[in-house]
This record gives sequence, C-alpha cells and structure tokens, in this order.
Amino acid sequence: MKNILIACDLDNTLIHSYKQKRDGDMCIEWINGKEQSYINKETYEQIEELKMLARYTPLTTRSIEQYLRINWKPGAEPEYAVTTNGAILLSNNERVSSWDETSYKFMDEYRKDLDDILAMLESQKEDLHIRCRKVDEMYVFAYCEDGGSVEGIADTFSEKTRLRVEYFGRKIYFLPPQFNKGAALTRLKEKFVPEFVIAAGDSEIDIPMLEIADLAYCKESIFDKVSNKNKKSFTNETDLINSILGDVRQFSEVGL
Ligand SMILES: [Mg+2]
Repeated sequence: MKNILIACDLDNTLIHSYKQKRDGDMCIEWINGKEQSYINKETYEQIEELKMLARYTPLTTRSIEQYLRINWKPGAEPEYAVTTNGAILLSNNERVSSWDETSYKFMDEYRKDLDDILAMLESQKEDLHIRCRKVDEMYVFAYCEDGGSVEGIADTFSEKTRLRVEYFGRKIYFLPPQFNKGAALTRLKEKFVPEFVIAAGDSEIDIPMLEIADLAYCKESIFDKVSNKNKKSFTNETDLINSILGDVRQFSEVGL
C-alpha cells in the first residue's frame, strides 16, 4: 500500500442529512432513535476498498460524541479520525494521548478566552437567540436560532476575543487559532509522513486543509475560494469516492 493520506470532512462531504435523503441511501447515524445522516450504499461499500489502498481519515468539526454516533460497519470503520476541528485524534475510537497533550497546551493558552466568550454569550443568549456550549473543552460553539443574526454575532464578538471566529449556516465557532483543519492536517502529516495527501471538504472551515493538500476535492460552493493549483470539484459523496478511488488506484499502479 502506498502511503497516501486522505483527510475527509464528514457532513455534506462524505455523509448528508436526512433532509437530503436520496434513493439508494442508507442511514448511518441516529439521534434518540431518529434517522439523522445518510450515505449512499454503494459509496459506503467502496470505502472498504479505499481503506485497503490509503489511510482514509475523517477530519471533522464534530465533537467526539457526535463522531461516535456514526455507525460505521466493520470494514468501513476508519482507524483514525480527527474530531473537534483538529483538537482530538481518535485511534480505533480511543483518544490518542500524545495528540491530546499538544492540544491541551494550545487550549490552555486560550482557556480564559474560551470561558470569557462563553460567559458573554450565555449572558445574552435570549437577546441573541442562541444556544451555546463548550465542545470537548476545546472550543465554544453557538447555534443561532431564527431571529438571530449569525453574521452580526460573529462580527460583534470577534472584536472582543483573541479566538478565531468562524461561521456557516446557523453555526458559529470560537476557536483557539491552532484548532483548524489545516493545522490538524499538518499534525497528521508529521505523524504519518505520507507520500501524497488528498483532502476533501464542502465548507469554508475546510479551506485550510484543502489549501495544503497535494490534491484538493472541493464542493462547488467553495471551489473558487480554495488556493490550490491541484484542485477538483465534486458534487456528492458518490462522485467524490469514485474520483478518489480512481486517483488512488492510479497511484498504486504507476506510482506518485
Ligand atoms: Mg462539511
């Protein structure tokens, strides 16, 4: 097996919400017994082949708990997964302590900033129409309900904190600057020393990893924003995994 690393975002890249359910999909995540996320069934089966050819590693903003809710079948289960926007590495679903050590050092520098921003958000949560919480101790997350302004909150609070503020849809993230997907991919590269790196993602929060990959798969919505000479677009997980399998099979035959 060539040492190829595939860093892959999950939501709207490899899996999708029940709201976008299509024929041929299978449920891969349930919340309180309710179907939440889906993946195309054939694509799911192709992941097993992909796993034999490359180190395929989900890299997600999800918390550990949200990641572990995904019900991979044996064979398609990733050996490693990075959660919490880069702050935590799981190996066979267990936290990797050396990764934790470095992340806690980063987080400690911003512990007060995280507590302060959470307290500020909490104290205004009714006026702002938000729900907020700390995620795995590593970052602060706010969900903006109808009636609140995501952009307004992000702009106002980014002036009051050293944390990096990112948002998309109704979600706002307040992150120590080291917890971004680019830095996480750099850490993965140091750990696994891959010969070639493929990254795939659909949203702005994925851009830092897409820009440092040897080959970047970007959804149309962010394609023009990604500075990487070697980038391709994809439409859904079936298209993505077919294309990546094509690349990886080619690398295996002819070399990098
Ligand atoms: Mg996504």
